[in-house]
Amino acid sequence: MLSVAEAETIILNLATPFDAEQDIKTIPLSEATGRILAAPIVGKLDFPYWDNSAMDGYAVRYADVKDCSPQQTVTLEVVAEISAGREPTVEIKAGQTARIFTGAMLPPGADTIVIQENTIRRNNRVEILNAPQPQEFVRHQGAFYRAGTPMLEPGVTIGAADIAVLATAQCTDLSVYRRPRVAILSTGDELITPDRPLKPGQIVDSNQYALASFVESNGGIPVSLGIVPDRPAALKQAIAEAIESADMVLSTGGVSVGDYDYVDRILAELGGELHIRSVAVKPGKPLTVAKFPNSCLYFGIPGNPVSALVSCWRFVRPALLKLSGLTENYRPTFIKARCRDRLSSGGTRETYLWGKLLAIDEEYEFSLAGGSHSSGNLINLAQTNALAVIPVGQKSIAPDEVVRVMRLD
Ligand code: AMP
Ligand code: MG
Repeated sequence: MLSVAEAETIILNLATPFDAEQDIKTIPLSEATGRILAAPIVGKLDFPYWDNSAMDGYAVRYADVKDCSPQQTVTLEVVAEISAGREPTVEIKAGQTARIFTGAMLPPGADTIVIQENTIRRNNRVEILNAPQPQEFVRHQGAFYRAGTPMLEPGVTIGAADIAVLATAQCTDLSVYRRPRVAILSTGDELITPDRPLKPGQIVDSNQYALASFVESNGGIPVSLGIVPDRPAALKQAIAEAIESADMVLSTGGVSVGDYDYVDRILAELGGELHIRSVAVKPGKPLTVAKFPNSCLYFGIPGNPVSALVSCWRFVRPALLKLSGLTENYRPTFIKARCRDRLSSGGTRETYLWGKLLAIDEEYEFSLAGGSHSSGNLINLAQTNALAVIPVGQKSIAPDEVVRVMRLD
């Protein structure tokens, strides 16, 4: 059986990133949050756009005030007042200055700002009490960014800070990767939709909803294909349609060794190459991963709702993010946390236990979800934001010990 690390490597190698020419679309900046940039951004404007003042004060010629001190002040003639957003109209000549405010353009002739705290104003004259440093409090054009140089590289998720930068650079339309289409189907004769009355032996198809939510929160477009009964012909047709219509398929159920578990055989019949059939992980051991000639990546996930979500978090998410065009940070984030409870494992498979990660006094603590940790118990999965990881070979972790935790938020 493959280890978790081996399975992750195989899966990431199978996730072919979107094409930077074909799988893109242009969108307005206002719709860019959370999207993945598909082309480098090169600004056409310097930033700052022009020399401007970093403080409220007076725009001076440094040569006029360089020898100034409280004992030997210099008085200048105030010939203009420049507020932010106005273009200066006068040139500052020797012995002159302009009143200036934060963000306002530096007038021609001036090269330095004297802050107003170092001045005394009398009508159209101002006394400078202290010599500034040369060019002090001037933000120079292009000091932070030069037009034509790289601003943002493709493959990053666009967030609020990027939006600010892009707006500043007047990039109002952006090339981003399209969102991947992820087909979801639930297999099982026992499944019904949540709006139907339960008959004895039936179970609500919670996976369809859980996986759609998972896909959406990771930037994909969920394409819900509903429930497929455990009949090989129906299953084969549904799976064939899913593969044709999506970049990735997630099916749940039917991948164990039960008499009604047909998925692996059907994938092979449809021309898929099976790369993974099980992983030494708990929960989620019967995981099937196949790749199709049209480049669709297929995950046959165990039907058990807890196993299904843990498999998605641990294995599908990195693949989905990489396929979506993200060039880094697509692997899960692991941190160290202090354990509140005793954690137990069988010791033969890498074990993921669900619970809550809390930040307390700048330290992380992991608190195990209460109730049974059977993979059939989906109820105590609610509000899970982290999974504690017990490595193969270790049977337990005592309270107060440090545990490796995978973040889900
Ligand atoms: P399977 O992997 O098909 O053997 O299913 C394992 C367990 O998960 C069984 O108890 C199923 O009833 C349950 N199960 C399978 N599919 C779903 C689903 N879509 N939603 C909720 N439970 C499911
Ligand atoms: Mg089943």
